[in-house]
Amino acid sequence: MKKRQWAKLSGLSLAAFGAVMVIKSFLPRRLAGSKPRLVVRDGLSREQLPEIRVTFLRCGHATLPEALAVRGSFSLAPLVLAHSAVLIEHPRAIFLYDTGLCSDIFSFLKGEPLFFRRTLASFVLDQPLAAHLQRLGVNRLDFALLSHLHWDHVSGVPDIAGVPLRINKVEYDAARLGRFDQWHALVPRLLGSSPLELFSCDGPPYEGFASSHDLFGDGSIVLVPLPGHTAGNTGMFINRANGGRLLLLGDAVWVADNYLRPATMHPFFWSLVTGDSATACQTLIDLHYFAASHPEVSLIAMHDARMQETFMRVEASLAQRWV
Ligand SMILES: [Zn+2]
Repeated sequence: MKKRQWAKLSGLSLAAFGAVMVIKSFLPRRLAGSKPRLVVRDGLSREQLPEIRVTFLRCGHATLPEALAVRGSFSLAPLVLAHSAVLIEHPRAIFLYDTGLCSDIFSFLKGEPLFFRRTLASFVLDQPLAAHLQRLGVNRLDFALLSHLHWDHVSGVPDIAGVPLRINKVEYDAARLGRFDQWHALVPRLLGSSPLELFSCDGPPYEGFASSHDLFGDGSIVLVPLPGHTAGNTGMFINRANGGRLLLLGDAVWVADNYLRPATMHPFFWSLVTGDSATACQTLIDLHYFAASHPEVSLIAMHDARMQETFMRVEASLAQRWV
């Protein structure tokens, strides 16, 4: 065979191999990990719990084909990923879980690499955090609890400068070992000089999760580690008298389908955003079994626009019933 024919043949084989790899990256994949041992829930009755108002504040959004957010879905239907904060009005404190996006976010992102701005940092700014808080008449926040220290979860901090930031110590230590230098130190620039309060999830196992931190000591707000996406990604149970139980997931998943199937995102995004793939897969499996055995709990991830909208609709109808 002539040299040119060999070159053509190897070119074609390479293209075929590439095509197979691309197709394979969209196929479902069985996750490696073990089935968790579920424990019986701590029987707190509703009467013992306080009334807690929960409001998702969507600050921005991005849209992508569903197949990129959920491996194996094969759907090209547009899926909305939200950039949200959650306002939690508890009798003991008014606080945020994550912070959404600040009014000045684009000036923070100016000068960042084009690849970053065109992929992870590509979004539409809907309503910055400050505008949400003003609209709702919130003029005092006791603290903001950050699920983890990725830029898109601390991007609202400049709008609440000075409010104490509560961070899982595991997360803070891991971020300081390298992630803080990323994207021209974007995360430290966003955190500014707001006071930091580090906490540890060193309490007993809770609902099948390895350990916990009971924020007010009354069982109403219980933090649990959901590691993998980052070392200290922290979930938050909200147990209340005036509505359903909630488990906020930080970025343990992007959308509900990730834990329902369970399935990762497309490998391109999964590898881009996941710190420790094996641990993150185990967390996905834990959430899969937890969701199956606790249909009464709404598991809501911080980018899951559909779940957040559904929750807000149910909250509105409940509020109407109480009037
Ligand atoms: Zn995120």
